[in-house]
Amino acid sequence: MSDLSGKVAIVTGSSKGIGAGTALRLAADGARVVVNYVSGQADAEAVVGRIVAAGGEAVAVRADLSRPDEIQPLIDAAVSTYGRLDILVNNAGIYRVDSLEQLTAQSFDDHFALNVRGLLLATQAAARVMTSGAVIVNISSGLAKSPYPMVHVYCATKGAVDTLTRSLGMELGPRGIRVVGIAPGFVATEGNAESAKGMSDYLVGKTPLGRVGQPADIAAAVSYAVSADAAWVTGSTIDVAGGMVF
Ligand code: NAD
Repeated sequence: MSDLSGKVAIVTGSSKGIGAGTALRLAADGARVVVNYVSGQADAEAVVGRIVAAGGEAVAVRADLSRPDEIQPLIDAAVSTYGRLDILVNNAGIYRVDSLEQLTAQSFDDHFALNVRGLLLATQAAARVMTSGAVIVNISSGLAKSPYPMVHVYCATKGAVDTLTRSLGMELGPRGIRVVGIAPGFVATEGNAESAKGMSDYLVGKTPLGRVGQPADIAAAVSYAVSADAAWVTGSTIDVAGGMVF
């Protein structure tokens, strides 16, 4: 377990799924956590409630990361509530099935507005208030390196995320700010329940460790990425996938 006492973290899209698991884990490690949500206020408050019940500190803050004008207020909320920002986990993301035949310009724009532009603008705003020792974690996907054709657009966003992890790591390294990507394999969450229906056996069959992932598996990797043990890690994306190659 990392010791994050005194640190302040924002986890984007943490009302459910991997984001919620990550918020709970970072709080258990000692960080004060901003639980970001866009529409799931009750879910976000429930995550905050679990953190507080366990003796931690957290606050729920609404911001739609696909809207550039809502990003700065999220960063400001962390600083005004807790006085600093040490960790940004860029987790918020959307995933839609989009074969070449079905995909639309709107779907392309929706994916890139959140998964790529939101991540980049949140990093820009966070980096302005972060100091040496801060860490940015980008949640990628195994689909960046081994894409599926029926999800062209989503896979392309995660390829862009991996590239940004590298370029942002280069830019922020001299300031002592690390940027680490985490690429989950298949993780059972609300977000992919529909698209993964009927595919669980197939996906588990492709996973050497023989099970689907849970949000806590990814949260543990984020906990490592933001810890002092990862002090020499930046610009890389770590696969956390039970050995699965999509
Ligand atoms: P999810 O749909 O269960 O949760 C996504 C979260 O993002 C929710 O809290 C949602 O409210 C929030 N969100 C959606 N749009 C938002 C917006 N515009 N602004 C702010 N928040 C917004 O998803 P998940 O499965 O937990 O995925 C989380 C991340 O992990 C995503 O980036 C996803 O691409 C990535 N990922 C997931 C899997 C998987 O198998 N679940 C695998 C690889 C990568």
